[in-house]
Amino acid sequence: MMKESKYNFFFDIPKKLEKLIAYNSRTNALALIETKDYEKYKSYIKKSISIDDEKLIEDLKRGSFLIDENINELDILKYNLLNNRYSSNYLSITIAPTLDCNFACIYCYEKGKRKKLYMPKEVQEALIEFIKSKI
Ligand code: SF4
Repeated sequence: MMKESKYNFFFDIPKKLEKLIAYNSRTNALALIETKDYEKYKSYIKKSISIDDEKLIEDLKRGSFLIDENINELDILKYNLLNNRYSSNYLSITIAPTLDCNFACIYCYEKGKRKKLYMPKEVQEALIEFIKSKI
């Protein structure tokens, strides 16, 4: 059995084209899907009505719009995140030189944490040495 991806998005485009834009935010798959094929897809997902079009099934699977029911997409995302984080193939770091933000975003999610704190000189130098050691 197959199931729909939690990360599917379908967007209407002008009716005369009789197509939708399909996007999967986990795989970044982007496709045009005929409205009639989209209806088959939804019938399969909602009512378990089988899709009698092997090519459509393959295309939906290729874009991960349709996935094996045993797949846990959240686990895949977690794996990819940790794999990227701990990969030694490249260096990716986030540097916070200060907590003294001079922006004023209305949605600020750091309220209560913004302080006049600055990265000490020795930490700056250690950071430079760390980056050098990884180059
Ligand atoms: S969210 Fe808060 S801490 Fe982040 S840039 Fe905006 S005001 Fe500064």
